Amino acid sequence: MDKGYCGTSGASAPSGNSLWYIKPDPELRKQAMASREALGGFLAQRTWMERVLDQTFENINRVAEWGYPFPVDEHGESRRESIQGSEYMRLMRKKIQRAGVQILDQSPALELLVDCEGRVAGAAGINRQTGERWSIRAGAVVLATGGCAFLANGLGCNVLTGDGYLMAAEAGAEFSGMEFSSAYALSTTFGSVTKGRFFQWATFYYADGTPIAGAAGHHGRSIVAKTLLEQPVYDCIDQNVTPEIQAWMWKAQPNFFLPLNRRGIDPFTQHFPVTLRLEGTVRGTGGLRILNETCATSVLGLYAAGDAATRELICGGFTGGGSHNAAWAISSGYWSGQAAADYAKSLGTHAHQRSVQAIGEVGLRGDGAKAFSAEDTIAATQAEVFPYDRNLFRTGDGLRDSLGRLDSLWRDMRQSGGATGTQMVRSREAAAMVATARWMYRSGLQRTETRGMHKRLDYPEQDPNQKHYWLSGGLDQVWVKSSLNADHNTVTNKELVLR
Ligand SMILES: Cc1cc2nc3c(=O)[nH]c(=O)nc-3n(C[C@H](O)[C@H](O)[C@H](O)COP(=O)(O)OP(=O)(O)OC[C@H]3O[C@@H](n4cnc5c(N)ncnc54)[C@H](O)[C@@H]3O)c2cc1C
Repeated sequence: MDKGYCGTSGASAPSGNSLWYIKPDPELRKQAMASREALGGFLAQRTWMERVLDQTFENINRVAEWGYPFPVDEHGESRRESIQGSEYMRLMRKKIQRAGVQILDQSPALELLVDCEGRVAGAAGINRQTGERWSIRAGAVVLATGGCAFLANGLGCNVLTGDGYLMAAEAGAEFSGMEFSSAYALSTTFGSVTKGRFFQWATFYYADGTPIAGAAGHHGRSIVAKTLLEQPVYDCIDQNVTPEIQAWMWKAQPNFFLPLNRRGIDPFTQHFPVTLRLEGTVRGTGGLRILNETCATSVLGLYAAGDAATRELICGGFTGGGSHNAAWAISSGYWSGQAAADYAKSLGTHAHQRSVQAIGEVGLRGDGAKAFSAEDTIAATQAEVFPYDRNLFRTGDGLRDSLGRLDSLWRDMRQSGGATGTQMVRSREAAAMVATARWMYRSGLQRTETRGMHKRLDYPEQDPNQKHYWLSGGLDQVWVKSSLNADHNTVTNKELVLR
């Protein structure tokens, strides 16, 4: 089931994706694994990185065999370090259709179904065009609903509202690394494209045309954000961009230029206003906690893949731009699908005769009398997570202050009567966004240090005693605990089935 038209919806589909595609040469692999360990705050695990590098290499080669037209370089070698989302997703859609899979497009899942032992046994939702409800029983469910970008209007990201997190949490699933959720991406103020690679060739300017010192490069994002808190920032792609580089840019990422072209702006010579759009956990790294190599969550029958799952295992607290995320989606999708199928098989032929219950609550059903507006709730949540001086530059006081208001939004929703018809989609998105912000900020409050993308102004140093994951969960009462105190950190698939 896809909330949009499967193959065109979500973050992968609209643009070029660089891939963590590294040949199985031990030295190259070692360099690839070492390259972002410090950036991620040393929370990534080499065994997971090795698995992802192996699986991504194998799967991308398979995509090539299926006919994806990877370009060939001047030495006749096929270049597989990046992939065009639209082409690749179209190929994948064709592949699954040919395999006999029925796709429900425009059909957001709203809630999970569980059996009497609390094992996930299906999902239910609605077709947002016809209003027809659907409900599907299944031996297992894989959540691949992406991250949460809080409707910040980034291209491909407005379907990513944390719905999967909310559904999973209602079944009792745990999260990991939700404090690593402060990803912001540069874009024009008037367009939604947040592909940032070309900003490597950019100079940032004040309105009067003076360059902003230190604003270029990854580390310059903080300077851009601080400047934006006070005044507009302008950009020009004017750093050694030869005609050859310009031609390559047009070919590699044509949609970067569209909003500029529409306004008649030549980005190589003219200054244009930019902003930082929140991408939350999409290019953050937190998500559903993964228990073992099968990508099982902490609830039986429920698996997670891609941005819906934590990516700390391969990139710690920072993704540092492309490649790791797509590699994780490609690998975790493969493992979770396989494990979900194995698990479903292990239930035997009577799995679909189990009596099941739909467990969605806030925003969906309720008997409270409080009036509730999804749009107002969304705007109020955005007011807590968009501002750079709350989310990017965090402090204990700021986080507590926001949590007070977010908790009260949650209580208001809890005491309301839910929604009906296709309005359920929006009200579930609102509920998921409030819930996600609460897991983010409670985890952020707990991590009293600066590590990865999580910046605490009141704790600017890395604390060697916090080189562990922070797990979180809960709905009415949000909890956070250290992974050092967590049980069953690595559980084998067999144990999991038995539990
Ligand atoms: C601008 C940008 C550039 C990026 N560039 C790179 C890059 O170069 N390299 C890289 O590795 N990574 C990159 N990433 C990250 C990468 O796009 C993601 O990691 C990847 O898309 C994750 O894939 P996914 O399938 O988990 O999620 P998505 O591609 O976001 O797909 C999620 C899907 O879930 C569906 N969905 C959501 N809610 C529901 C619901 N309730 N019911 C049913 N369906 C639902 C959506 O419609 C969508 O189809 C980039 C991200 C962005 C935003």
